[in-house]
Amino acid sequence: MIRKLISRVFGGRKAEASHHEPAVIPVSSHRITRDRISSGSRRVCETLQDNGHKAYVVGGAVRDLLIGAEPKDFDVATDATPEEVRRAFRRSRIIGRRFQIVHVMMGQETIEVTTFRGTLDANTKKDEHGRVLHDNVFGSQAEDAARRDFTANALYYDPTTEAVIDYHHGVGDLKQKTLRMIGEPRARYREDPVRMLRAVRLAAKLGLIIDPAARTPIREMAGLLENVPAARLFDEMLKLLTSGHSVKCITQLRDEGLHHGLLPLLDVILEQPMGEKFVMLALANTDDRVRRGKGTSPGFLFATLLWHEVLAHWEKLKAQGESKIPALYQAMDTVLDVQGEKLAITRRIAGDIKDIWALQPRFEARAGKRPYGLLEQPRFRAGYDFLLLRAESGEIDMELADWWTRFQEADGEERARMLLPEQAGDKKRRRRRKKLASDGVDRNSPE
Ligand code: ATP
Ligand code: MG
Repeated sequence: MIRKLISRVFGGRKAEASHHEPAVIPVSSHRITRDRISSGSRRVCETLQDNGHKAYVVGGAVRDLLIGAEPKDFDVATDATPEEVRRAFRRSRIIGRRFQIVHVMMGQETIEVTTFRGTLDANTKKDEHGRVLHDNVFGSQAEDAARRDFTANALYYDPTTEAVIDYHHGVGDLKQKTLRMIGEPRARYREDPVRMLRAVRLAAKLGLIIDPAARTPIREMAGLLENVPAARLFDEMLKLLTSGHSVKCITQLRDEGLHHGLLPLLDVILEQPMGEKFVMLALANTDDRVRRGKGTSPGFLFATLLWHEVLAHWEKLKAQGESKIPALYQAMDTVLDVQGEKLAITRRIAGDIKDIWALQPRFEARAGKRPYGLLEQPRFRAGYDFLLLRAESGEIDMELADWWTRFQEADGEERARMLLPEQAGDKKRRRRRKKLASDGVDRNSPE
């Protein structure tokens, strides 16, 4: 406490930053009227203010509105403690142990409400590389602003006055299309290396230039990412891949030297033996979906990123004499065992990935009842989209994908006409399968 006071009085860099007066930018200048923010976040701010607190919409939403982009979500920052926030809203709950935030439910919306964070000081717990481990002091609004990463992210919007409060010249930087780090970039990357990934993602997503002072150290400090827990990296990479700008992000990550060995996921993406074309197509396809407001599933995304590894293993097992479908299942398990752990893929996502892969050989069957059965599969659509990508990348014949496109659209009679004649072996195989099933062997095996 005393140390904190001394550092404030004698002014470290951050203490200085937290002392300067913010610019208060009126609506006449920035033109963000209160109807532009979600009704939930507005009501949360109003209620907290009515209770005598400060409360603002903060971070990405204000930034996005200022550059004319659609905000993903509206977060609120306040000087109320988590307990005070929770008491102010009936439908709310405190999340997290170390740094508590409150989720407030307003109709369909969930608003994340964060109490202003305080300045890091000599007591802040860090690992041996300087990465901040515990981050649980509350502070003033100015301190909170100084703790944020980029100037464009340290903007506070007051729905009551419609003013933007700007401590670090964020509005000006945004006008100059610049992503500028608050404070000394090297120190900020050391505190949290994920900021390097955030810089690349936000610049790509928002069409901003990373200020040279923040860009230059990335190459030399990239190694610090190895030290970040896998689950945190996974979350950030997932944000990057589903930002609608993944191709640009990945290209820039490679250009910035954030590659090889640092990010397991990036290795997977960039070091596909023959799959680069497939992966880049898949990412472009995901970008397109995101931008058109269609959903993307992490399962589909990771199924594409890891597919060529599965293919390589599958081929090897078949060459060793393993039969087709058991070999595929074995290859899937091997790839997911290795990568799942490295990338912190959750069990649920791994299940989705397997579903998509396991459907692939079933698209080859175009005779008898099997195509109809496949259409009824709950994951048919994802499997078919995956098949299209395989065809577009040249892995399989486009004729097969086209057949499935037509088969889905065709009516009953036309579908029957499209079926290929049953091969002599088909019936025999089916009889064998029935026998295996009645012997208690896996019925769900697709072949
Ligand atoms: P997006 O559009 O992807 O949501 P965002 O900037 O809003 O981008 P969030 O992860 O939602 O990203 O974070 C909300 C805000 O919290 C940021 O705008 C920034 O002010 C602050 N913040 C997030 N991550 C960090 C970090 N690693 N270091 C410092 N501040 C951060
Ligand atoms: Mg956000």
